[in-house]
Amino acid sequence: MKLNHVIQELYASKINCSISSFWDRGYEVKLGNQMNGFKDSESVDTLEEAAIWLDAAARRHYPVSVYAKRRQCCRIGCGKLADYRIIYGPSPDDWTDSCLADIPEMMTDAGWHEIVRVR
Ligand SMILES: [Zn+2]
Repeated sequence: MKLNHVIQELYASKINCSISSFWDRGYEVKLGNQMNGFKDSESVDTLEEAAIWLDAAARRHYPVSVYAKRRQCCRIGCGKLADYRIIYGPSPDDWTDSCLADIPEMMTDAGWHEIVRVR
C-alpha cells in the first residue's frame, strides 16, 4: 500500500489527514483536521505503516465515504480504479489492489495468491 495513493484517495473523498515526523520518535499520523477536530491518531515507525493505518482508520471512521467504497490500482502511475484485490499472506496488510491489466505485475513472490473481484 502506497502512502501517496492513500492520501490522494482520501483527499479526493474530502477526508483530511496529516503526517508529521519527529526524529527518533517516528511519524505521527492523524485523521481529520485541526479546524474540525481529529477523529483518530497513531504513532508509527514507517510511512508504510502510516499508509496502512490511515487506510484502516478512514474505513473505520468514514464507512460510507467514497474512499471506503472505491479503490485505485496500486501500481505506481496507473491511476485506474481497482478491479481486483490480490491477497498474498495472512496479515491484514498482505494485499494490494489492481486493475485487470496490471494483475500480472502486481503478483508477489508469495507462494499463493487469492484474487477477489472488488467492483
Ligand atoms: Zn493498474
